Amino acid sequence: MKQNVNNRTDSSFWLKNCPATNFPKLEKGLKVDVAILGGGIAGITTAKLLKDAGNTVAVIESDRIVKDVTVGTTAKITMGTYNVLLSNLGKIKAQAIANANIKAFHKMVEIIKNNNINCELHRLPLYIYTESQEKANETLDEFKAAKQLGLPVSYIGEVPLPFETGPAIKYDNQAQFHPRKYLLALSMEIPGEGSYVFEKTRANNIIIGENKEVITDQGSIMADKVVVATHNPVFDPDKLKNHLSPARSYVIGLYSNEEFPDGMFVDIETAHTYRTTPTDEGNLILVAGEHSPLNVDDRNVYYCRLENYARQHLNVESIKYHWSNYDYITDDGLPLIGMTSVEGVYVATGFGFWGMTTGTLSAMVISDLIMGKENQFAELFDPLRFQ
Ligand SMILES: Cc1cc2nc3c(=O)[nH]c(=O)nc-3n(C[C@H](O)[C@H](O)[C@H](O)COP(=O)(O)OP(=O)(O)OC[C@H]3O[C@@H](n4cnc5c(N)ncnc54)[C@H](O)[C@@H]3O)c2cc1C
Repeated sequence: MKQNVNNRTDSSFWLKNCPATNFPKLEKGLKVDVAILGGGIAGITTAKLLKDAGNTVAVIESDRIVKDVTVGTTAKITMGTYNVLLSNLGKIKAQAIANANIKAFHKMVEIIKNNNINCELHRLPLYIYTESQEKANETLDEFKAAKQLGLPVSYIGEVPLPFETGPAIKYDNQAQFHPRKYLLALSMEIPGEGSYVFEKTRANNIIIGENKEVITDQGSIMADKVVVATHNPVFDPDKLKNHLSPARSYVIGLYSNEEFPDGMFVDIETAHTYRTTPTDEGNLILVAGEHSPLNVDDRNVYYCRLENYARQHLNVESIKYHWSNYDYITDDGLPLIGMTSVEGVYVATGFGFWGMTTGTLSAMVISDLIMGKENQFAELFDPLRFQ
């Protein structure tokens, strides 16, 4: 939903410096092995992995691909935080979640390398800090949790931010990238040899028979299997939406009068984050935070708060971009990835602001399940675990 945000752009930086796509609408009378509903990181990556493994696929996107939540992101590819997961779920599950993230992280790097994708992948450290010394125990607990899971962390006294913080944990060798450049490159590999990307084609329903018939506003398409990767699941036989809580978050892109350090930064107490991205005018600093309910009357309130926060922390020269989007958080904090109660229909959602690795992970798990291969993470993320 577009809102009046005064003179603010309310449009993601990732959309600004990338070409528009122009894939056709659905052709009638087609049959593919797998129809994938939704052209964000989950849908496009799933299509790519399945096509590479010899399946025919059709991505069906209601608008244009890579234009929704996946361009709302700040695209930090990180290992995440584990203290809460460790206390809530125990060591075995927390370790499996960490392992799954590591695998997905490596898969993204492998895809980028093998396909020669120029998406500004940059390896750099992630710092998780608090501003108040009194809350230093939170970063210490986070450090101990990560250490217990064998993750590559260190505990440091000083963070290279231009303002004072408490001690922090530092993950070396994390990454950031340009999500739209990455996914547009992947999407170009999908059409051909019986596979397709269709845009401006809204999936409305799936009729279940021996084959599945995906009903869209442009007619229907037959498929053996269907993956629902529409973020908000458009086909939801198991009422998964009852276990998904939406949260909106805000991003501003600004230039500073001072050099910003190389790294990604997360304030574990307030959930504000920082990263930079290169532009012709120098490094644009992306500052994110100020969570709100999904539908707020006035997003300006949150943009103003974020601008004020940024001005209190950085020597702001100009603020060029504003955007916001939302993600779903599940009841137990883990994503919903796998087969629904309808045989041959799969779902990927509930990424909890961690969708770069988790969207990739969902593609890995679902493509394995579709091809009848075992996947060690399938049980952990089973979408039916709350039933
Ligand atoms: C402000 C913000 C910052 C974030 N920062 C990070 C970060 O730094 N690192 C990280 O890992 N994660 C981050 N995330 C989370 C991450 O961006 C998301 O988890 C991820 O992009 C979700 O991807 P998706 O493919 O599920 O959804 P989407 O990208 O929304 O893709 C779903 C697609 O389905 C389409 N669709 C919807 N309905 C239909 C229909 N009926 N028929 C056909 N198509 C349909 C939509 O048009 C859309 O293109 C952030 C999120 C936000 C909002």
